[in-house]
Amino acid sequence: MMEFVSASEIEKYTYCPLSWWLSRKGVEGKGKELKEGIGRHHEIEKNVEVIKKEEEKLFSSEFMIAVLSTAATILSLVGVGIYLSQQEAASAVTMIISAIWLASAAFFLVVALKSTQLARSARTVVDLPDGTIEYVAGEGVEDLSSKKTGLIGRPDYVINVRGSFVPVEIKTGRVPRGPLFSHIMQLTAYCVLVEEKYGKTDYGMLIYGNQAYRISLTDELKTTLFKKLEKMRESLNTGIVHRDHSRPGKCRHCSRRNACAESLV
Ligand code: SF4
Repeated sequence: MMEFVSASEIEKYTYCPLSWWLSRKGVEGKGKELKEGIGRHHEIEKNVEVIKKEEEKLFSSEFMIAVLSTAATILSLVGVGIYLSQQEAASAVTMIISAIWLASAAFFLVVALKSTQLARSARTVVDLPDGTIEYVAGEGVEDLSSKKTGLIGRPDYVINVRGSFVPVEIKTGRVPRGPLFSHIMQLTAYCVLVEEKYGKTDYGMLIYGNQAYRISLTDELKTTLFKKLEKMRESLNTGIVHRDHSRPGKCRHCSRRNACAESLV
């Protein structure tokens, strides 16, 4: 059976194949940035759960408001009809029921307003694109996987933006001048998984601090991803993996350099 390769492994492999290999051998990444990143991720996760919960509440409240106010209006009209036909007692009963329904609609209106406010303030913490949140990675949430490609992964979020499903990956820590290629590859893997599970996926989003980048899912990126996947599988078979760059800066920022025999620093 084909072994699954995760999107975060793709990210590590693209950064440096040896870093990926070390992580597979159980070498944990070390560094202050990494720890801060995990904390920040938990904070963002909580906020997105608030957004999802409050937006769901908002949707059901809006539905209740529509149903109750329509029913109350119809009932009031019926009440007026009954009153005109001189049945005062029956008319009073319909009016009272109608008033109760209107009061209930007002209650749901308050709930909706509160949910809007909570969702809006949570959205200021996490700058997500407008749309319905379909998926939030978190405890107990299943990974997205594909038997066809052998990919597995959990994007931070999947948002449905007007019928196009957008995986969103939030990167914490150092803010680069532009999206890093290793992150683009990871996001491409998420796009492929999301496209298979949810449907139309035109692009994914990488968010660094306040900066968001939209990365289109092109055939070129897909081809590069699958080529990398092939090389990774080759390495898994042969057990041969080496550094594929000559950039000391990469090694300097590498969280596994202490365990690396080919480090340039
Ligand atoms: S220290 Fe350098 S060569 Fe070693 S795993 Fe990290 S990036 Fe690769």
